[in-house]
Amino acid sequence: MRRALDSETPCKLPFRPLIQGEPLSSWLIRSALACGCDPLILCTSIWGAWRPWTRDIDRSLAQVRIQTLSEASGIDAQRLRASTLQQTLANLIPSDASFAGCWPWVVARGSRNRRSHGGFPFCPHCLAQDARPHLRLSWRLAWHVGCEHHGICLLDFCARCGAVVSPQMLTASSGDITACWRCGADLRESRGCTCDPKALAAQGLADAVLAGGPGSALPPEMSTSEWFSAVRSVISERWAAITATSGIEPASFASGLRFELQSVCERHLRMRYLQEVIEARNGDLRGVGVKYVSGVQRKRRARRGVKRGSPPRPRSKAAVMADWARLLRRMGQGYQ
Ligand SMILES: [Zn+2]
Ligand SMILES: [Zn+2]
Repeated sequence: MRRALDSETPCKLPFRPLIQGEPLSSWLIRSALACGCDPLILCTSIWGAWRPWTRDIDRSLAQVRIQTLSEASGIDAQRLRASTLQQTLANLIPSDASFAGCWPWVVARGSRNRRSHGGFPFCPHCLAQDARPHLRLSWRLAWHVGCEHHGICLLDFCARCGAVVSPQMLTASSGDITACWRCGADLRESRGCTCDPKALAAQGLADAVLAGGPGSALPPEMSTSEWFSAVRSVISERWAAITATSGIEPASFASGLRFELQSVCERHLRMRYLQEVIEARNGDLRGVGVKYVSGVQRKRRARRGVKRGSPPRPRSKAAVMADWARLLRRMGQGYQ
């Protein structure tokens, strides 16, 4: 490894086989841990000074980086590109689209150096059944809130210490990718709560619409992006309206964060509501359109009319809980 670090040309490293549906980060981390080194060291031997763990390489990777990785691993560049979300979402997001920060429909990890504010969602049962435990690209899709095989909600934090799942923080001594980076707990032993069948149905429908092709669930006269735009309107409805119509426990709070930044639990409730709306409209989402108001916009509107220096107004419990959720996210702590 030392020789590789000193060399300017990447050497052939003992990469693990890249599994179908596995994101690049999972594969690189598994490969590093299997050969007894930190993911950081492996990536230094591939890309030199470039730091992949300070960005979200599962979303996309520049052609030149893909090529370097392909030469180092011996895996075809096209296959590597297929392990990114940009390829997965090709039917929904134009390949030349550029987004500052959050990508639409991709669970935002948010990073500060190597640390993440949001965890990588996972199903503990899938990891436990894997011959070679690995993460799934589909778990990063924001509408994926549960495991269709095991019927439980995905998790994105360690049940023992509460740290969000950040496999890029694992080190050579961590064992494998199923360990919590902070406390070492085995994530496969986590207990997931039952996922609402309605949320799973809406998730499956979104998958089918994205996949397109013959037998697509896409209603006539709607494009894939129009359908997802309508879905965005539904899941962005005000929390009070959602809890009132779907019988969700009113005490549960909404963070006010963008859908991609919300916890699995919050997204799960919104996906369940989406299915109720779809059923009520017999699957036809044409004409659905509620102006999306982000949490930040809501906050600005709420502050309008408040004079500077005036004493703070009493705030609702929901508003305080939403602030609490945002604070936990900034601290890299999971919440439900
Ligand atoms: Zn599963
Ligand atoms: Zn932990």
